[in-house]
Amino acid sequence: MAILLGAIADDFTGATDLANTLVRQGMRTVQLIEVPAGPAATAIDGVDAVVIALKSRTIPAAAAVAQSLAALDWLQNAGARQVLFKYCSTFDSTAEGNIGPVAEALMAALDTDFTIYCPAFPENGRTIFKGYLFVGDGLLSESGMRDHPLTPMRDASLVRVLAAQTTRPVGLVPLSAVSDGPTAIRATFDRLRQAGTAHAIVDAVTDADLHRLGEAASDLPLITGGSGLALGLPENFRRQGLLPNRGETAAVSADLGGATAVLSGSCSVATLAQNAYMRARRPSFQLDPQALAESDEQIAQAFDWAAGRLGAAPILISASAPPDAVRAAQDALGRERAGALVEAALARIARGLVDRGVRRLVVAGGESSGAVVQALGVRALAIGRQIDPGVPWTVASRDGAPPLALALKSGNFGGEDFFLRAFA
Ligand code: ADP
Repeated sequence: MAILLGAIADDFTGATDLANTLVRQGMRTVQLIEVPAGPAATAIDGVDAVVIALKSRTIPAAAAVAQSLAALDWLQNAGARQVLFKYCSTFDSTAEGNIGPVAEALMAALDTDFTIYCPAFPENGRTIFKGYLFVGDGLLSESGMRDHPLTPMRDASLVRVLAAQTTRPVGLVPLSAVSDGPTAIRATFDRLRQAGTAHAIVDAVTDADLHRLGEAASDLPLITGGSGLALGLPENFRRQGLLPNRGETAAVSADLGGATAVLSGSCSVATLAQNAYMRARRPSFQLDPQALAESDEQIAQAFDWAAGRLGAAPILISASAPPDAVRAAQDALGRERAGALVEAALARIARGLVDRGVRRLVVAGGESSGAVVQALGVRALAIGRQIDPGVPWTVASRDGAPPLALALKSGNFGGEDFFLRAFA
């Protein structure tokens, strides 16, 4: 058995978002946590698509490239016919990359001179027009993303952002071509390619645009984008007779019983509102990076506080803070150290909560989810019911340990009542 689609995601919430989209479009999909040590054979039995989740968005570019190439190697051994590099719908990247360097390394390994970039996710308000990324009704650079703790995005021009990260020219497939359909899109690909353009940002404002783009991209060995780009891909395989017409593939049940909790490490606008909503209704405990820097005392306090409060209704343990508080912590500790302290604390608290009987856990934040999932020794995730667009429940399998229900929420996703509704 060989898989059809292989995906490499640069964070864990993004990987879940993508796997969710593929499952809903009729592909049996497995999400693997990092590159498996063993061969592909058992992991891909009966599977149409594999998403390998990396935590590579904010690490040094060379490490992100090395991990992505290892993932590619595994996916090629599993038989992948097309490779998708998945990043955030807000094109989050550090000053050094990593989107451009990883894409160029994957292009070289796949021996292709051209790829596309489309992070649009219309259902969550991310659209691209004339190469500019909009979040809701405003530009990316005017959204809360301008104050992201790790990847502040201060330029909404994806052409400019990507050009600063790549060695070869960047161009644009305009909305006029995307609206005209796959033939016009392919003609634009050809024109750009002949002019020596290696990287094409693609405009898209609706799901229909993404379906047309997906169809036009059927022959590209490598494509890159957000989960929205996956909307049109399963149909390509069905058209070629490679994928049966299954409808939505069955979602696993994440109703595992046990105690519940929410861990929040995202400082994104949506998560801050979700924190406020939860704090008004359920017991909550606040972590402070500067206290975490001094000693482990606050982690011990969190466990003492949680004892007696754990049950079917969730508690909240959160480090989330508004931009001024994040800046104060970063001024005192440095950006990387502040983030690393919070991630390490959330990871230890997650392990402790699971030891104390928590079996259903919501984690807010991409990097935060990565730290938690790694600490819990998760090997793979199966996709369950969707809570809000882009965020499904998942069932996590771990070596020799009971399964866990995890909902990994990207910072800016989900309604205000997400944390409570997830358990409803
Ligand atoms: P999102 O999905 O919103 O991007 P992430 O978890 O990916 O969220 O990133 C948020 C980062 O901010 C993490 O590295 C986290 O450790 C860090 N962080 C969380 N709370 C604070 C805080 N109070 N001060 C400084 N950094 C923080």
